[in-house]
Amino acid sequence: SKKNKTTTKPKTKDEYTQVYPQPLMTFRDLRTTYGISGRMATNLAEQGYKIPTEVQMGSLPLLLKPEFALGTSSEEAEGAGKGKGLDLLAVAPTGSGKTLAFLIPAVNQIMQRRRTEKDKDEHVLQAVVIAPTKELASQIVNEAKKLSLGTGVKVVGMRKGLKIIGALDVEAGAESSSEDDEEEEEELSKKPVQGVAKADILVTTPGLLLSALSSDVPEKHHPLPTVQTLVLDEADVLLDPLFRDQTLGIWEACTNPDLRVTLWSATMGSNIEALASSTIYSRRTKLGIEEGS
Ligand code: ADP
Ligand code: MG
Repeated sequence: SKKNKTTTKPKTKDEYTQVYPQPLMTFRDLRTTYGISGRMATNLAEQGYKIPTEVQMGSLPLLLKPEFALGTSSEEAEGAGKGKGLDLLAVAPTGSGKTLAFLIPAVNQIMQRRRTEKDKDEHVLQAVVIAPTKELASQIVNEAKKLSLGTGVKVVGMRKGLKIIGALDVEAGAESSSEDDEEEEEELSKKPVQGVAKADILVTTPGLLLSALSSDVPEKHHPLPTVQTLVLDEADVLLDPLFRDQTLGIWEACTNPDLRVTLWSATMGSNIEALASSTIYSRRTKLGIEEGS
């Protein structure tokens, strides 16, 4: 098979195991070892989170320090796609805290970007979280808002009629579960659509987002070029025949070359297996992780 130029020596299973990060033992380590913001750490502490669950212990180090996941030096990691970490598939039981495991890295990444970029006060859609039901989506919105309180990161729940223009603009009507609901809705409807982005994180069901992205050309969707993180929550459901085409339609709309996709599920169904073995596996190969390791 064709080898990528940036690929160095393939990693054997032993080498890969050696560079695999230590599990996260306490939430305090997120601040000390992984450099999440003090504000986010406070938000976690105020909700009483102290000991990470197993899926959080395993996934957070991988998602917060991409070079760990790559099993390479950060130089190699850069060659593999600047700023990009590996995609991740996490399978853990219901109630094991998967929501927080995907939200912490998403909020953290957005805060880092906002810290370094010129237009730091602009909201640019950077993370899309897809969930199979509206109820689940609204629970995720609530949790994301608690986590990002005071961080400047804006979370919006998708609903019917909300327009996503080019990917950048979330038009009036954003669902909001914070206390300043009315005020926010009013502000949203007054603002011009053009050139104003109003969400950093969008939480949605597949159908709602896909219809907002549909164009005049059948089967063609408006792209979401600014999205860096795509989360599929309950990925087994999102990839079953009922949702599969919609989910993959959104995935295709995420055209950013640095896109990271994370899949979260309570079961490892054949739907997931089929997909994961094609996308995640191909990236591992490109990075020089030996076949079968
Ligand atoms: P899952 O998506 O895996 O089914 P959730 O993310 O919905 O699970 O989390 C289930 C519950 O566990 C939520 O009420 C959440 O606040 C709580 N929770 C998550 N992580 C922790 C933790 N580290 N310590 C204590 N409670 C947690
Ligand atoms: Mg869940």
